[in-house]
Amino acid sequence: MVKTPRVTIALRMNKRRLIAPFLRQLGGDPYGLGRAAQSVRSEELVARTQTADKVVQSICPYCAVGCGQKVYVKDEKVIQIEGDPDSPISRGRLCPKGSASEKLVNSPMRETRVKYRRPGGDDWEYISLEQATDMIADRVIKAREETWEEETEEGEALKRTLGIHFLGGATLDSEENYLIKKFFTAAGAVSIENQARI
Ligand code: SF4
Repeated sequence: MVKTPRVTIALRMNKRRLIAPFLRQLGGDPYGLGRAAQSVRSEELVARTQTADKVVQSICPYCAVGCGQKVYVKDEKVIQIEGDPDSPISRGRLCPKGSASEKLVNSPMRETRVKYRRPGGDDWEYISLEQATDMIADRVIKAREETWEEETEEGEALKRTLGIHFLGGATLDSEENYLIKKFFTAAGAVSIENQARI
């Protein structure tokens, strides 16, 4: 007869019950804090980190501390995120928020589409990323044209706009911030900020 995993576990549990806990402790766990106290079921459990196909080093996206993360991937899906001991910043630690960042990736509540509420609208509607990008570009161009300041009243060059401001967040990495600063400065904006700084 082929034993199913459930039958196998049941047999092992019965066998284990026959050995008194005291005797199990004598097998190398005198205080009963390790394997002597372990149930058969927990013995069967395997950490997700052990079944991953690959591990990718990354940075926590939440705040400016920039703790190092190890992202465990299986079948091209993120299955676990843990602190990276090699990070000189966090040395393997993550705060509760960073520890839960696997949920940021896999939560069914994660918003992956662009939501838009038009002027006067009383509800959100979904639009394509292309449409949203075009709408933002149109607004930036219009605001720049309408607020452009070529020179002061005395004729000194200004070449700026006070109609466009940029406020970045902690999820932006250094490269993105570099490009954002370069782009908005080239467009003539002077108010370019990021809340993430240490
Ligand atoms: S783990 Fe916590 S402290 Fe570290 S970067 Fe993420 S949110 Fe910030």
